[in-house]
Amino acid sequence: MLAICVLRGQGVHVEAVSFASPFFNTTAAQRAARELNVPLHTVDFTDDILGLIEHPPHGFGGHMNPCIDCHARMVRRAGERMAAMGFDCVATGEVLGQRPMSQNRHSLEVVIHDSGMEDFLVRPLSAKLMEPSRPEREGLLDRERLLGLSGRSRKPQMALAKAYGIRKYPAPAGGCLLTDDGFCRRLGNLLADRGIRDLRSLRLLRIGRHMRLPGGSTCIIGRNQADNAALQQAMAEGDVLLDTVNVPGPTLLIPFGVREPADITQAVQVCAAYSDHREKPTVTVRVVASGKESVHTLAGGSRDAYASWVI
Ligand code: SF4
Repeated sequence: MLAICVLRGQGVHVEAVSFASPFFNTTAAQRAARELNVPLHTVDFTDDILGLIEHPPHGFGGHMNPCIDCHARMVRRAGERMAAMGFDCVATGEVLGQRPMSQNRHSLEVVIHDSGMEDFLVRPLSAKLMEPSRPEREGLLDRERLLGLSGRSRKPQMALAKAYGIRKYPAPAGGCLLTDDGFCRRLGNLLADRGIRDLRSLRLLRIGRHMRLPGGSTCIIGRNQADNAALQQAMAEGDVLLDTVNVPGPTLLIPFGVREPADITQAVQVCAAYSDHREKPTVTVRVVASGKESVHTLAGGSRDAYASWVI
């Protein structure tokens, strides 16, 4: 948002580009674009980010976040639009030293080279600390009116936001789902188990508690009503769905079928253990698989027995 304001301050026409994938969306960008009244272009980044997760040339950050390669690829995609739409450069809101891994000088230079945008990439907030880009050298941008921000403090940016009259902006923290510990454990299990073959397998990572059963099947346990409803809705051909009949309890989904028949028995026990069975000596669990329904009655048991299966 600040980069846009700085460029507009020079009378430059700016349009915004945002990227969507199963790991991040454009909600914040849409809000920001409305706030600044700037046209917003959305790019589907799914194939790009999936490829980078499998082969990140510059490795991951703290989790499964290939931030340096992700930045470079986004700049490359923005550059393609720049060329197609007749713009003169791509600008980002990156600040030198803002993040220790992905926005240090080396990383910013890697992004310049790997994006293929060597001469056309401008960082308006830190431009005075970087080599002049072509639009600066050719006088399209006045380098003197670009900024020289650096470091982790966001106080100068907050002061600028106030000066530009920006009232709402995202909290300065966090990354996408690829920086989330629990999500990345589930994603790692998926990659090791069957790889990312479809978007459904990624959508399921966002629902419930995931468990690896002894036979190798992954099961998803609803943690609340919303999860249970989402799992019921997500059921597809080949899946196994379990729920409780006589007591409140979770819905369980074994997507993509079971690896070993014994996994269904284990899942029944898990379903009973995670149910609210305090008042009842037994729990009845319904199993739906291949269009057939069966019921199993068993003692509830303790969920602690299955703690080591949780991913
Ligand atoms: S936090 Fe996620 S979206 Fe942001 S650069 Fe890293 S991988 Fe890309």
